[in-house]
Amino acid sequence: MIVELLRGIPKTDEILKHTEWKRISGLYPETVMKDALREVLNGLREGIKQGYVQGIPPLEEIIDRTEEKAKRFIKPGLTRVINGTGVIIHTNMGRSLLPKYAIEAVIQRASHFCNLEYDLDKGSRGDRYVHSVSVLQRLTGCESALIVNNNAAAVYLILNTLAEGREVVISRGELVEIGGSFRIPDVMKKSGAILKEVGTTNRTYREDYEAAITESTGLLMKVHTSNYRIKGFVYETSSEDIIALAKKYNLPSYFDAGSGLLFPLQGLDSINEPSIIEETKKGWSLISFSGDKLLGGPQAGIIIGEKPYIDAMKKNPMTRAMRPDKFTLAALEAILLTYLEGDRAKEKILTLKMIYEGKERIKARSKRVIKYLEDLGGHGKAFSITLVELESQVGGGSLPDVYLPSYGIAIKPKTITIERLEGILRALEVPIIGRIEKDTLLIDLRTILPEDEPYLIKGLKEAIAKALE
Ligand SMILES: *Cc1c(COP(=O)(O)O)cnc(C)c1O
Repeated sequence: MIVELLRGIPKTDEILKHTEWKRISGLYPETVMKDALREVLNGLREGIKQGYVQGIPPLEEIIDRTEEKAKRFIKPGLTRVINGTGVIIHTNMGRSLLPKYAIEAVIQRASHFCNLEYDLDKGSRGDRYVHSVSVLQRLTGCESALIVNNNAAAVYLILNTLAEGREVVISRGELVEIGGSFRIPDVMKKSGAILKEVGTTNRTYREDYEAAITESTGLLMKVHTSNYRIKGFVYETSSEDIIALAKKYNLPSYFDAGSGLLFPLQGLDSINEPSIIEETKKGWSLISFSGDKLLGGPQAGIIIGEKPYIDAMKKNPMTRAMRPDKFTLAALEAILLTYLEGDRAKEKILTLKMIYEGKERIKARSKRVIKYLEDLGGHGKAFSITLVELESQVGGGSLPDVYLPSYGIAIKPKTITIERLEGILRALEVPIIGRIEKDTLLIDLRTILPEDEPYLIKGLKEAIAKALE
């Protein structure tokens, strides 16, 4: 029986001659089609041997299965998703979204030659690191700047350049872990700098810093506690005090500002995120921050500060290993230039726009989605869908204690489990990622772009159909 079945598996030649094969073989690369076919036939063979395949499917079906596989082989692994979590800067979903004009800047510089390292004034070899420096000077009043691939690279480079083999004085309350195994003490060790922690978790005074300064000290460092807050019996030495101490002992001072909020967020309660512009005025030797957190740009690490230190970093051989490409530089400059427009940045930079979006507008959009789904009909048997008040979060290791009032839709499945529903939504062509609370899936409309809405509705429609299968 098994032998007979195995013998019945169509020969490759036979399949390649079939008209259906000829129709689809133009759609995918030949090697992909053949690999897919081999897998389908091997699957059949295995199935017959194991006993769960008891008949040979028609040729058409074998070819259909091959096409399905081929489709999966050429599908990019990195794919668009709909973020219904309400977390605006979601590290797992790519952090900040670039506005169209920043994408245009990337397309233009990437699809043409550009002056990446060519000095147009002199007509000779130039410096990749000059880009964005003048706009950063204009925005923040800094002396000089350096862009690297991300803020983790910035931290490493600063410590390695300024404090290799020397002690870095830092408060015990600021030995941060950002997530994804980025920990200040570990990065410090790798950089060759020596951690000199002072004070206690909740209280660190100016005297603690001062007592730790010796001839081995290389740097005074402060780290913004981006993703947590210490509350209660707390004392934090001010930036001004740390900077004054560094000056007194002729040492550099460095602030890892983390999220990169350029100027204070007006009109939002309970926000105590340091702004880069204010911190620059205080006189740090160096400040570093991320490009894709609150700044709302591409992944980048931005270092601003005194020219001699920036120049020393440019000479560090490790800088080459952290240098940004032209895509990053083009997008970053477009975003930074937007900040010169002042308040308009809140409209033009998508991360800020999402933070400032009013809850009434989000409510209206949520209602519209629900109405669409009701008009489609049939959902009542599969789900109960209701409007809910939610709280969005800024995310990206910033503002951990800020909750933005928001709205969204709550979906409670009637015929399937909540885990099954979540799985269906994740497997869609454009996956929808929500948040499960008890037996309900919550989708916050704050983080869903208007152009995502048709996909949200289409995806939910598909889920309804699956739930009723
Ligand atoms: C996020 C963060 C980093 C790491 O920045 P990346 O751009 O993610 O590399 C470093 N320090 C602080 C304080 C941060 O918040």
